[in-house]
Amino acid sequence: MAVPKQGHTRAKVGKSRMHKYIKKVYLSVCPKCKKPVRSHTVCLNCGFYKGKEVINVLADLTKKEKKAKEKEMKEVEKETKQEKPLTMEEMSQK
Ligand SMILES: [Zn+2]
Repeated sequence: MAVPKQGHTRAKVGKSRMHKYIKKVYLSVCPKCKKPVRSHTVCLNCGFYKGKEVINVLADLTKKEKKAKEKEMKEVEKETKQEKPLTMEEMSQK
């Protein structure tokens, strides 16, 4: 709706624009590949959501890109596996 410009004070304009700003995006960490992801959203790096594969990320990549990505994923998996076996004794030492 058209509103006459002259009838508005700066304060009134400011008040109406009070909620017009870019909101901060809060990110969580993907449990599979440890990259930042928006919550309640499929991870676009590995294509997993809630522990299941939803998107086949490797489908549209070239051979070279596929190899690089698979290597990267394996490295992340190795890291997560190494972190897991922490016995109670090791915990107490830290
Ligand atoms: Zn991921």
